[in-house]
Amino acid sequence: DEPPQETEIRQLDEDTVARIAAGEVVERPASAVKELVENSLDADADSVDVTVEEGGTELIRVADDGRGMGEADVRAAVREHTTSKIEGLEDLESGVATLGFRGEALHTIGSVSRVTIESRPRDADETGAGTKLTYEGGEVTGVEPTGCPEGTIVEVEDLFYNTPARRKFLKTTATEFAHVNRVVTRYALANPDVAVSLTHDDREVFATTGQGDLQAAVMAVYGREVASAMIPVEADGDDLPPGPLESVSGLVSHPETNRSSPEYLATYVNGRAVTADAVREGIMGAYGAQLGGDRYPFVTLFLEVPGEAVDVNVHPRKREVRFDDDDSVRRQVDAAVESALLEHGLLRSRAPRG
Ligand code: ADP
Ligand code: MG
Repeated sequence: DEPPQETEIRQLDEDTVARIAAGEVVERPASAVKELVENSLDADADSVDVTVEEGGTELIRVADDGRGMGEADVRAAVREHTTSKIEGLEDLESGVATLGFRGEALHTIGSVSRVTIESRPRDADETGAGTKLTYEGGEVTGVEPTGCPEGTIVEVEDLFYNTPARRKFLKTTATEFAHVNRVVTRYALANPDVAVSLTHDDREVFATTGQGDLQAAVMAVYGREVASAMIPVEADGDDLPPGPLESVSGLVSHPETNRSSPEYLATYVNGRAVTADAVREGIMGAYGAQLGGDRYPFVTLFLEVPGEAVDVNVHPRKREVRFDDDDSVRRQVDAAVESALLEHGLLRSRAPRG
């Protein structure tokens, strides 16, 4: 055996490791908002109210009326790699129904901010108080009983207060809020049966009713004019060319209701908000020359594929998915959107393509 040598290679301390990891999950306020809203939806909430201040850099508050947590659960929730959603890899392989499963969001958000969680389980008796836990820079700083409504309220203050480099990297309030708005909008559209609201610096940006109607949700987030220009897409089985997609459904806009940015293309695979080149190309192909160059329609489109055909085990920040058979997916989406547009007389007929 060699005698031990001097080395420059050292083991990083836990705190440093945690903050580096946090930067990978929480890039900006919108990423924390995404995690918290997903937790509320996973908790079966009927309403999710998101409040942010200064684009989420000062405060993010997500309040839900979901199943809530008792004291032991609140304490466990902020620990590293703690989740109630899966037990092991087998659960991942058979397909996860929840949006979260990594058990890292609360822990990592809390390692780069000041977090307060107030929660009360749904089934608590009348006198059963809630629990308030404060967590700061990765440490629990207090746990006490508190009176609170059923459900959970998570507040995230001073994001990146202890990672100045990352804090400096944040963009203007307007840009950070635009990202937050996009995230909350995506979940509001995907869950029309949940009342989702977004408030920025005391101004209500939108609020959906949660009555289960996609058209109404589109109206709440994009306004009456856009909503009235949407037509339904509904294709499954024999309506679709062969390929992995079992169904394509949702709403797409008249070609003349368009924007210069693709951000209004809201696409979902098995209920998860994702983007995929094949899907976008299919949509754009259907509109074809009806849209000018660099113009994009409003689209809220839900694709269903068999669980084994998509990998949900993607990086938490990655929204891009790939299909084994991109060409077929492109053709299927194109056909579904095209037939909706044709049915409404919104396309000049075009030559069939191969
Ligand atoms: P994950 O969502 O991957 O399980 P999180 O760190 O986001 O990991 O949350 C840890 C656990 O805390 C969840 O599995 C869940 O049991 C609980 N939890 C988090 N947020 C809520 C909420 N809003 N309502 C009820 N339980 C929650
Ligand atoms: Mg989560």
